[in-house]
Amino acid sequence: MTALIIGFGIYKGVTWAFHTIASLLAPEVQKEEVVEVEPEKEKTYIATVVIDPGHGDWDPGANVGNVLEKDITLKTSKAIGQVLEDADIKAVFTRESDVSLSNNKIEDLKKRAAMSETYQANYFVSVHVNSYEESDEVSGFEIYKKNDESESLAQNIGKSIETLNYSKNRGILDGGKSLQVLRDNTVPSVLIELGYLNNKNDYSYLSDDEKLQKMGETIAKGIIEEVQTHLLDNSSQNNINQ
Ligand SMILES: [Zn+2]
Repeated sequence: MTALIIGFGIYKGVTWAFHTIASLLAPEVQKEEVVEVEPEKEKTYIATVVIDPGHGDWDPGANVGNVLEKDITLKTSKAIGQVLEDADIKAVFTRESDVSLSNNKIEDLKKRAAMSETYQANYFVSVHVNSYEESDEVSGFEIYKKNDESESLAQNIGKSIETLNYSKNRGILDGGKSLQVLRDNTVPSVLIELGYLNNKNDYSYLSDDEKLQKMGETIAKGIIEEVQTHLLDNSSQNNINQ
């Protein structure tokens, strides 16, 4: 036992001496600061919205020259997403770059709509641009709703876009049967047509990136209004009733 203790003592002594000498000889080394890595806190969201930039990749949508619907919808959608995230609303994009979800149009739309269920979203908002080949006189934005449940979302977005005063509000239309992305959806859904690309007035707005940023922010405000007045109000009422 004693031998063991002495042995250990010698060992400790030698190690100490070694470390001391080593530290004397070693050039000054900046001690690495130990930063406590906090586990990344998962952000808590008050709602989830699927944002669907219409078209993509092989499917450019409406176009005038090299101004393409698929680019307009993506730029606008990204701006919507930024503002939603700042308001603690999770934005799930059906696409975040110039891609399609399938080479088959019907499959592509089906996959977009299915994301509402996959991500347990509260709302689905699809962004598009119109074009009316027979006349360049037609202008304005319009919002298609899936059903009555989608009415207040459509109204809130419509009221918000109206404040931009860039074109006329063509109103809220039923799209629950005619538009696949709404028909296949499982949550309150709208499809916004931002304007008519072949109309001079609408074109000048929709071909301007800064305007599209503003457009996205404005649509987001409408969605936030809907979440605050409809979704959160309803859920607090449900809590009271329980
Ligand atoms: Zn479209």
